[in-house]
Amino acid sequence: MNAAADAVHVDHSMVIIGGGLAGATAAASLRVDGFAGAITIVTQEAELPYQRPPLSKGFLAGKEGEDALYPYPAQWYEENSVELVTADPATAIDPAAHTVALASGRTLHYAKLLLATGASPRVIPIPGLDLEGVHYFRTKSDSERLKALLSEGGHSLVLIGSGWIGMEIAATARELGNEVTLLGLEDVPLSAAIGPELGRVFQNRHLAAGVQFRLPASAASINAASGTTGTAGGKVGSVTTSTGEEIPADLVVVAVGVVPNTALAQAAGLTLNNGIEVNAHLATSAPDIFAAGDVANALHPATGAHARSEHWANAIAGGKVAARSMLGHNAVLNDIPYFYTDQFDLGMEYSGYGALAQDAELVVRGSLDSNEFIAFWLRGGKVVAGMNVNVWDVQDAIKDLIHSGRTVDTRRLADPAVALEEI
Ligand SMILES: Cc1cc2nc3c(=O)[nH]c(=O)nc-3n(C[C@H](O)[C@H](O)[C@H](O)COP(=O)(O)OP(=O)(O)OC[C@H]3O[C@@H](n4cnc5c(N)ncnc54)[C@H](O)[C@@H]3O)c2cc1C
Repeated sequence: MNAAADAVHVDHSMVIIGGGLAGATAAASLRVDGFAGAITIVTQEAELPYQRPPLSKGFLAGKEGEDALYPYPAQWYEENSVELVTADPATAIDPAAHTVALASGRTLHYAKLLLATGASPRVIPIPGLDLEGVHYFRTKSDSERLKALLSEGGHSLVLIGSGWIGMEIAATARELGNEVTLLGLEDVPLSAAIGPELGRVFQNRHLAAGVQFRLPASAASINAASGTTGTAGGKVGSVTTSTGEEIPADLVVVAVGVVPNTALAQAAGLTLNNGIEVNAHLATSAPDIFAAGDVANALHPATGAHARSEHWANAIAGGKVAARSMLGHNAVLNDIPYFYTDQFDLGMEYSGYGALAQDAELVVRGSLDSNEFIAFWLRGGKVVAGMNVNVWDVQDAIKDLIHSGRTVDTRRLADPAVALEEI
């Protein structure tokens, strides 16, 4: 091949590192937006690109199969000429040469590169993490391993972590007939995300189902069951808490948050700031390199602040915006952040700016005790976030209220008889 032909090839290659929802969405968006050149997705896992929300809910419960995980089936990649390089992680980026090195030794050239490397479970420094029966939870295989055990029922599970993943696994494990005890650093689970009043709604539902809580308490050590041996020093038998209590456990899941996967970006000299720092177009500090999804700390035009979102909707919106930016369009990620959860019979959706909702005025439409309500967070009389629990088809109206930035009458906001569109 002569140099000119090589240059044409190099100039049209889009490379995406990461086979999660942000990476898959970006590839699809490139095609939707008319890009006809080469697209390569490089993944670490030996899987089709997949999404994670079902892993702690329907897939873990055995109610949903693999189909629920894949945003696009295998044939979609073939039909759309998207090359999938699976189980071959990227090991280095050379921003000057516009190349990516893979573990296999292969080198990929890119015109534009997207880093969609996601995040990994935070590791806590306590003894006993290597015992058999101790799990972290992020991947499809993590979920499959735990499902095989929890579906037997009758296990004693200790969950370390009182955030969304811990609470969702607790609900699923309990529904599968296991004893569940959850430890967390907060007085009330989910407080860091939605405050104690709303966190208590979820806690009460878990208590009614028999989930036990030790709050606030951290895990001081994970202990081997007496008389057990194994390659990793035996099987788990209990967890000792910071208050000195020893809780029996034959399964432990550590779910204490995640850390963004920034090693590649750091080694390549990109600016980091709680993830990979990107502007509102999702461009990093290096030319032709973009970042999206859990790993990206993006400047939000509405708040003027950087925020890293670890949610499904952000992976989709970010994948789309990154694709357009890679194509040279002036795309901006300005969606109102959104996420959802399902725990027992509580279905919830949340839209808004979490940082602005901290210590904001709380207005509730309906009653928290009924498990059917909408909660709003207000600053200076303006709605900055809203969350509906077992009330549906109100997200557009909630987002309109946030987007409008208008001052609202809190009595009308709290009155279910007044349509949200008329507030
Ligand atoms: C169990 C679970 C339940 C969730 N439930 C919800 C929910 O109910 N609602 C909600 O809004 N959000 C939920 N989330 C969050 C949501 O799934 C994430 O925000 C989303 O997965 C982020 O997508 P991503 O593509 O940025 O990253 P990821 O999905 O983490 O994908 C990144 C991929 O990049 C790969 N990778 C990393 N480094 C390399 C490398 N060097 N080379 C190649 N590949 C690499 C990783 O292996 C990974 O497969 C949940 C998350 C989990 C784990």
